[in-house]
Amino acid sequence: MAREVALFKAMINKKKIQGLMIVAMGVFLARIDVFFALEKNQLFTISAIGIILALTGIAIYTAGMPRTVKRVTTCPSCFRKNYAEATICKKCKKPLLKKG
Ligand SMILES: [Zn+2]
Repeated sequence: MAREVALFKAMINKKKIQGLMIVAMGVFLARIDVFFALEKNQLFTISAIGIILALTGIAIYTAGMPRTVKRVTTCPSCFRKNYAEATICKKCKKPLLKKG
């Protein structure tokens, strides 16, 4: 059970929750005519804001997704790609320069 909770926590982080909340708000605003009777020009403005909010929410949600890009280091002498954690090159065995 604890493993499932940890997995759930890894999947749902702050950015994802914020993103989903903003998307929900945006969708609500975009479809506000279902809940309230508004004038046409007001409705247009609120719908436009809603759509922008929903798109912003999607962007924030995407930013909260785990990064799948593997970090690599390129060897300065033979240009072979090595894992970022490696200290010597896989091919020429020369030490890799650490940046940062
Ligand atoms: Zn090398």
